[in-house]
Amino acid sequence: MKLIRYQNSEKESHIGWVLGDKLGPVRGDIFGEYQREEATIPVEDVQLLAPVRPSKIIAIGRNYAAHAEEHGAEVPEIPLAFFKPPSAVIGPGEAIHIPPQTQQMEHEAELAVVIGKGGRWIAMDEADAHILGYTIANDITARDLQRSDRLWTRAKGFDTFAPLGPWIETDFDPTDAIITCRVNDAIRQMASTRDMVFSVKKLVAFISSIMTLYPGDVILTGTPEGVGQLKKGDVVEIDIEGIGTLTNPVSEEE
Ligand code: MG
Repeated sequence: MKLIRYQNSEKESHIGWVLGDKLGPVRGDIFGEYQREEATIPVEDVQLLAPVRPSKIIAIGRNYAAHAEEHGAEVPEIPLAFFKPPSAVIGPGEAIHIPPQTQQMEHEAELAVVIGKGGRWIAMDEADAHILGYTIANDITARDLQRSDRLWTRAKGFDTFAPLGPWIETDFDPTDAIITCRVNDAIRQMASTRDMVFSVKKLVAFISSIMTLYPGDVILTGTPEGVGQLKKGDVVEIDIEGIGTLTNPVSEEE
């Protein structure tokens, strides 16, 4: 099932679900009790929003060996976790803004985990019961600032640096799905989630051993090799097999 947030022509936001090219409203709380209504509204008549509004986004660095290598970095023995602020989230189709402070803004295509049931000290074999589903993320990074700053708050934290969407897929197997990133139709990244150093279950267990995960929190699971620069006017598309496609244009911050 595909769960969305969307805005109708009256600019009201709703939650819904998608079946083919139609959507239906969802009544209730997607993290608790909810009910789906018939899917009769054409998806093209609404604007999709980021499918979740997380209280926090925990991202994992260097979780694919080939990507660590392209930056001359070692694969960490313990997951390398950092935060992206919820204020960075944008939805499908929204523009990623190049801030004036960077000369090298890059894409990072990533599988995103959406927590359903919160918790602390979640065991690996209980992780699935805490996951509502999966979506697609672009961990936009100001690479020059990531190199110059000791902490990555600035490089990873600008507004619009966390595109999420287009929906939360609740029926998805994260163990071997192909992630593809295209910029202006040219393939930049293509790899399987099979190549992750730390699995989704391990990441949920690891992160929840540090901090309580809340419903709606999002975990970015790291990017495969092939990251590269985005320029004004580019269109970046990320496909994850079994989920869908997240598309965002790139513009300069005004
Ligand atoms: Mg990343």
